[in-house]
Amino acid sequence: METRYWERDTSLLAIEDVARMPFRWAIGIDGSKFFQEIRDREALVGIKCQSCGRVYVPPRMVCGPCFVKMHEIVELGNEGVVNAVTLVNYSFIDPDTGKRRPVPYVYGYILLDGADNLFSHIVRTKGRESVKVGERVRAVFASEKKGRVQDIAYFEPVKSRSN
Ligand SMILES: [Zn+2]
Repeated sequence: METRYWERDTSLLAIEDVARMPFRWAIGIDGSKFFQEIRDREALVGIKCQSCGRVYVPPRMVCGPCFVKMHEIVELGNEGVVNAVTLVNYSFIDPDTGKRRPVPYVYGYILLDGADNLFSHIVRTKGRESVKVGERVRAVFASEKKGRVQDIAYFEPVKSRSN
């Protein structure tokens, strides 16, 4: 008697391997300036639109609302205010390490001093569960910098709250 396909062993098989996907992505003049300033001076910079005055971080070539090319790099503060925050409990594969990122961790959307758009990064809370919207944070830089976003190790609250 013939075995129909739904009567066969239908357990799912898996193939495990590591996919190697080398790439080189040009980040442009403005993106390079952003990471160079972090790497060389631990300074955060944005770019200012001469038409509307908005300051964008990280710098980009064109102001979207005005649709004009921007040229003026401006230095921002290394501090800002948390505008939104989320507690991440899902451990995904960190593309930099190839390993699962330990959870939980806090991800904040930060309005850096002198900028008009939000900059997102990890916020380390030193034992606290999270930070609050409106709380001031500052950038803490990695000891070894390579011209990457990880050169900002994390942000941390400017003043520690008592527990
Ligand atoms: Zn503009």
